[in-house]
Amino acid sequence: MSNIIPFKKPTAAKRNPGNTLCKRGFHQWQSVPGTPFDVKTGKLVTRFRCARCGAERTQST
Ligand SMILES: [Zn+2]
Repeated sequence: MSNIIPFKKPTAAKRNPGNTLCKRGFHQWQSVPGTPFDVKTGKLVTRFRCARCGAERTQST
C-alpha cells in the first residue's frame, strides 16, 4: 500500500508578486531628484530607485 503525497511548490510568487518581479530584474525604477553627479567617477549620472524594493542604480548620461 502506497500513499503518494503530491509535491507542493512554494507560493511565494503569488504572495508577493511585486517583489518577485524585482528579483527577476523587473524593477519599478523612478528617477531620484537631486544632484545628478557621481563623485566617484566624476561623471554626470541619473539616479533611479525602485519604488517596490528600494534598490538603487545609476545610469551614465
Ligand atoms: Zn525592485
